[in-house]
Amino acid sequence: MARLPMLLETNEITVADEARALEARYGNLDPAQIIELAIGQLFKQDIAVVSSFGAESSVLLHLIAQVNRALPVLFLETGKHFPATLRYRDQLVHELGLTAVQDIHPLKQSLKDEDPFGALSMTNKDRCCYIRKVEPMARAVAPYRAWMTGRKQFQASTRTALPVFESVGARVRINPLARWTSADLKAYMAANQLPPHPLVAEGYRSIGCMPCTSPVKEGEDDRAGRWAGTDKTECGIHLTGLTDQLSNISLTDSNL
Ligand code: SF4
Repeated sequence: MARLPMLLETNEITVADEARALEARYGNLDPAQIIELAIGQLFKQDIAVVSSFGAESSVLLHLIAQVNRALPVLFLETGKHFPATLRYRDQLVHELGLTAVQDIHPLKQSLKDEDPFGALSMTNKDRCCYIRKVEPMARAVAPYRAWMTGRKQFQASTRTALPVFESVGARVRINPLARWTSADLKAYMAANQLPPHPLVAEGYRSIGCMPCTSPVKEGEDDRAGRWAGTDKTECGIHLTGLTDQLSNISLTDSNL
């Protein structure tokens, strides 16, 4: 595969420009090619993947395992996951042979100060997501120049324009599965005999923290069961709060 133009290796263009150039040039490649390109050529040691070990997480993790089983896999251990998710996480790690999975916890001080009884999700979901997801996420990706996610365009009306390559502050976020459909994912899981998350059989199609996740009905967005009954649609790790948090962290700061 052709190398990136030298222009992209200079500091004269912004990361936003870099992401747009990557999208124009490589955005239509297959997920496997995108992952191989990202790990093998574009970012090498400077890339990780963030996984929720949710309903479709096995697809991205399996694709990555074909390229590098030792790629850092960052898991936001909010302390609020379904026990089934934690068991599924252990199962996938074992079956795919992933060797660098990291649990990223909230700061103890934040929990002590803001959620001493573990009930913040009932009174202030945005703040709960901030201390359990956004801040830990920023801390986790800080050492890398890029990270991958399993987000897809079909998941929700808010994601229909999701690109494969996008910038988040001074870093690049890559969504290799952005253009895959639900049928593509199911076919990949079947072809590779990937185990389903146990809660999928109970109607959960997007699986996050237990207090904020419910099953969805036929015809609803996959993410309709996340924060159901509220205006909230994202936890913040994919929104500007993460950019703001990262803007104070240098690319080489790995002591967080
Ligand atoms: S999804 Fe719910 S429980 Fe999880 S961090 Fe956000 S508000 Fe808290």
